[in-house]
Amino acid sequence: MNYKYFDNAATTSVNKEVLQEYINANNEYFNPSSLYTPSLSVKNKIEMARETILRYLGGANKSTFIFTSCATESNNAILRNCIKRKDKKYIVSAGEHSSIYATAKAMIEEGYNIQFAPLNSNGSVNQEKLFEMIDDKTAFISLIHVSNETGAINNIKYIAKKCKSINPNVLIHSDGVQALHKLKLNMVDMNVDFYTISSHKINGVKGIAGMYIANPNKFTPYIYGGGQELNLRGGTENYPAIMAFSKAITLSNYDYDYMEELKQTFLQNISLPYKLISLENCVPNIISICFPSLRGETLVHLLEQDGFLIGTGSACNSKNTSNRVLQEIGVEQKYILGAIRISFDMNKTKDDLIELANAINNSVIMYYNKTGYKF
Ligand code: PLP
Repeated sequence: MNYKYFDNAATTSVNKEVLQEYINANNEYFNPSSLYTPSLSVKNKIEMARETILRYLGGANKSTFIFTSCATESNNAILRNCIKRKDKKYIVSAGEHSSIYATAKAMIEEGYNIQFAPLNSNGSVNQEKLFEMIDDKTAFISLIHVSNETGAINNIKYIAKKCKSINPNVLIHSDGVQALHKLKLNMVDMNVDFYTISSHKINGVKGIAGMYIANPNKFTPYIYGGGQELNLRGGTENYPAIMAFSKAITLSNYDYDYMEELKQTFLQNISLPYKLISLENCVPNIISICFPSLRGETLVHLLEQDGFLIGTGSACNSKNTSNRVLQEIGVEQKYILGAIRISFDMNKTKDDLIELANAINNSVIMYYNKTGYKF
C-alpha cells in the first residue's frame, strides 16, 4: 500500500542525494585506522564531515562533534559523563525524551540527586520554576530544545544564559534532535556545553547521530577501544553513514511559514471538538491533538486502513498506555488516551493535510457512532 506518512517526528525518508552519498562511500570500504593511502583518504573525509557538521552547528573553537550510533547513545553518554558526584545536584526537564528521562530515572535509583523541572501547558519547561531549582550545588541541566511530543520550543539561548548567571559552573545540555533543520542553530550563541542531534530525523540514514561537545578535554571516554572519535568513543567509524549525515545536514529546506500554513490548514479542516496541545510557541511540523473518549491507538489503526500513518506520541514510547509528557502538562486522562501526534515535512502540501483532516473526521465520527458517544 502506498501510505501517506505523517509521522516524521519518529523518522524520515532518506533523501535521494543522501542515499547516493551513502552508496558511493560504501565503495571506499577501507578501515580509517589503517595506514595505507585509501584509509588515510577515508579518515580525511570523516574529518571533513565532522567539520561540515560543526560549521553548520556554529561550534566554538575548542569544540568537537563526536559521531555516535544514535541520539539515544549520545544522550546516555552525556548524562553518564556529567552526573558523577553524589554531593552535587542535577536537573532535567520533565519533558525530556525517554533516552534522557529513563537514564535519569535509573541514575536516581543509583543514588544521584536528579530533579525534574516542571512543564508549561504546551510542553516547554517552566522557566521560573527551573531557575528557582538552581543553586550553587547544581552541576548539570538537560533540556530538550524542541519537544518530540508537542513541538514546544525551549528558548535555550535565554535559559542557558540565565542558568549560568545563577551558577556559572553549571553545564548545559540540550537535546536538539527535533530542532535540527527546524530552528536556526548556533552553539556559541546558545552557550550550550553539549548538544545532541540525529541523522534519521533529517532525511539521513539510520545508525548515525552525534553530540556537540564544547570542551572535549573535560569529557571522559565511554567506549574504550582503538582510540577513534578523539579517544572518547572507540569502534570502527561508520564511514558511509557519516558521509550521508554530513550531506543531509547541508540539505535543509525547512520553511517555517509554509509549515505553519500546513498546520493551520489541518486544524481548520478538523470538524469535531478537539483539544490542541501544540498551541503557542511550537514548531509547526508537530501537532499534538486529542479527541475525547477515543483511544489514540484506535485512531492510528483506523487511519492506517485508509492509508495514513500517524503517531500516538513518541515512537520509542508507543507501547506505554499513557503519555508521560501529556500527564506532566496536566492534560485530562480522557484526552491523553485520545492523543495523536501528526508530524510532517516539506514534501507535504495543503491538499495532503486536508485529506488527512477529512480522514480523521470520518474515522472519529464512525467510532463515535459505533460507541454512541455524543459530542
Ligand atoms: N531525542 C529526541 C527529542 C527524539 O525525538 C528522539 C527520537 O525520537 C531521540 C532523542 C532518540 O533518537 P535516536 O532514534 O537517534 O536514538
